[in-house]
Amino acid sequence: MKVLITGGAGFIGSHLAEEYLKKGHDVYIIDDLSTGYIENIQYLEKIEDYKRRLFFYHKSIFDPETLLDLTGTCDRVFHLAAAVGVDYILKNTLTSIERNIHGTEAVLKMCGRFKKRVLITSTSEVYGKHLHAPLVEDDNIIYGPPSKFRWSYAASKLMDEFMALGWHRQNNLDVVVTRLFNTIGPRQTSSYGMVLPRFVNQALKNEPLTVYGDGNQTRTFTYVGDVVTALRRIMEQQSAVGQIFNIGGTREISILELAKLVVKVTGSTSEIKMIPYDQAYTRDFEDMQRRVPSIEKIQKYIEFNPVIELSDIIKELVQDPEIRL
Ligand code: UDP
Repeated sequence: MKVLITGGAGFIGSHLAEEYLKKGHDVYIIDDLSTGYIENIQYLEKIEDYKRRLFFYHKSIFDPETLLDLTGTCDRVFHLAAAVGVDYILKNTLTSIERNIHGTEAVLKMCGRFKKRVLITSTSEVYGKHLHAPLVEDDNIIYGPPSKFRWSYAASKLMDEFMALGWHRQNNLDVVVTRLFNTIGPRQTSSYGMVLPRFVNQALKNEPLTVYGDGNQTRTFTYVGDVVTALRRIMEQQSAVGQIFNIGGTREISILELAKLVVKVTGSTSEIKMIPYDQAYTRDFEDMQRRVPSIEKIQKYIEFNPVIELSDIIKELVQDPEIRL
């Protein structure tokens, strides 16, 4: 099978590429390297057997010829190219909205033209600021006002979901929508605000770990290997077409607890420093206090048991030669 991954030089995209290469498939990647890294491609190319089945196009998804060519060639399309990370989005607000909405629009149109099954990666951000747990795919969404630009990311991803489901309803295109919760693992960059790689980098340098707010906000973290296997399996599940699925872990942990765990596992001498939100982000920021997925739905469709211990993942990050300090 030939698989196209938009944003395949990114953290999750490159792991997804590896998942398919491992299974013997051909992988085509289109990535403009705006937030992805060429090192992620080079990492895959080190394995001779992967190299001859990996085709990297350093192009934007807004390049119509490349998108046309690759969508026509491939059997499956995973759309991961998007603006990523709270920090990045707050610094690049308009381009992030445009990239998410128009990028997904372009990919869906091309898939519609060639009738290719497409998986759209959305995000747990879409739920907004709920306090209850777990979050179920049919839950209402709650956003702050448009003056708080953080919500522009959630709203743009929600629009992506609507467009994808619209393509399914109106044109019978095979689409699957997945909402990814906080994904972690080797080769994740800390450059765009992601908390765990930031904490690990800070701990390894014996610098203070920066906990924003009071640290009582919680998240569940999912190992990237579990995420990409779930993406591959749900893509191949005919009954999943036209539906939305949460993909996330089940262990809820506060950010303060996470910081303590990182210090413990790394054996660092770092202190933990509490930083008020207004010093951490711009005034456009509002945090999500709690974010825990229900994974009951996806478990009815595929085998999905994300149980890897957080401390084991932290250990793996510490040993990750690719870690970007
Ligand atoms: N966070 C933190 N210190 C950091 C980076 C992030 O305390 O150096 C917090 C952030 O405010 C949020 C949580 O960690 O409450 C997760 O942040 P991240 O940007 O990784 O993802 P989010 O879940 O917010 O999309």
